[in-house]
Amino acid sequence: MQAAVLPPSRLGGGGPRPRLERLDGVSYQPSNIPKMKGYHDIVGDGGSGIAEQVAEQRSRIADGLAGVRHLVAVGSGKGGVGKSTLTLHLAGALRARGLRIGILDADFNGPSQARMAGVQGGLFVPGSHKVSLPRTRDGIAVFSMGSVVPESEALEFESVAQGESHTWRAIKEFALLGEILESFDWGALDLLMFDLPPGAERTVQYADFLGPKTSFLLVTIPSEVARGVVARSVAALSKGPNRLLGYVENMSGYYCRDCNAIKPLFESSFDSRDSAALAQDRPADLRIPCLGTVPFDPELARHCDGGLPFVELGDTPVRRALDHVAQQLLESLI
Ligand code: ADP
Repeated sequence: MQAAVLPPSRLGGGGPRPRLERLDGVSYQPSNIPKMKGYHDIVGDGGSGIAEQVAEQRSRIADGLAGVRHLVAVGSGKGGVGKSTLTLHLAGALRARGLRIGILDADFNGPSQARMAGVQGGLFVPGSHKVSLPRTRDGIAVFSMGSVVPESEALEFESVAQGESHTWRAIKEFALLGEILESFDWGALDLLMFDLPPGAERTVQYADFLGPKTSFLLVTIPSEVARGVVARSVAALSKGPNRLLGYVENMSGYYCRDCNAIKPLFESSFDSRDSAALAQDRPADLRIPCLGTVPFDPELARHCDGGLPFVELGDTPVRRALDHVAQQLLESLI
């Protein structure tokens, strides 16, 4: 017996009420099936006014971002690949060219920007309409939950439903993101960069929430595991309207200061496989432009831990690499 797949129209996708009928030899007995209300059975908004609330919030967010020329989300799908590092230091490289830049650290649960950008104790100053953001030493406006919640504490979304916090997490997270976008004074910016949390499917949720004007820059490292996850993000984002500017390969080699050379950091296991195995298990092709490669440099990690800005990096391969990627990013936005 073939498995019966209900076509969307029979699931009540906005059309007439679902009809249960005989499909591929499977007989459904309506009387035996407990009647459960589906999403599409709810008439109107159940009295919540949710559609109006969403529309109002969208218009307040659009007002708040009216002075921002470009919205760029830095994502990956994978954690620990350098999204926050590249967000901050590409912002720094662009700032050094005179551009007005803001960063919104959207990783509310694992915020890194406050420490990396040196705004851990940053003050949020209420103005007549909006709240001003703390700035880095080189003048980048930064919102990071790390400026509000100390590292010894975790962010908690209050919930009246004990043990049900998972149900509301995404809703609360995006409600908070909306509030941050509408209540802070982003002012006139050339670029607002979003440092996204990991998760390929979550990356798409951010694309949905931030809207089609937000472009995406993805970060990977030269490991097959990371490329595989980033390839999933590319596949998921490609279904939507957001522009995929390209990807950056971070930790692309290790900068050895003693020998002033870039040495391999991730050895590819492909070098040792036979051609049949290679054909079956090739590294994921990301199918978007590569905007550059950035080596691992312990000095950059030290800068991130100490909250030191891009301009204080010496004239090293990592600084030149970041500058190159920043230029490519600008060109891709035109
Ligand atoms: P993600 O945001 O993807 O989770 P992070 O940017 O927090 O990753 O990077 C993880 C760690 O790796 C941080 O401590 C950061 O300083 C370090 N790091 C990232 N990229 C580099 C690099 N190119 N050189 C040196 N350290 C790096």
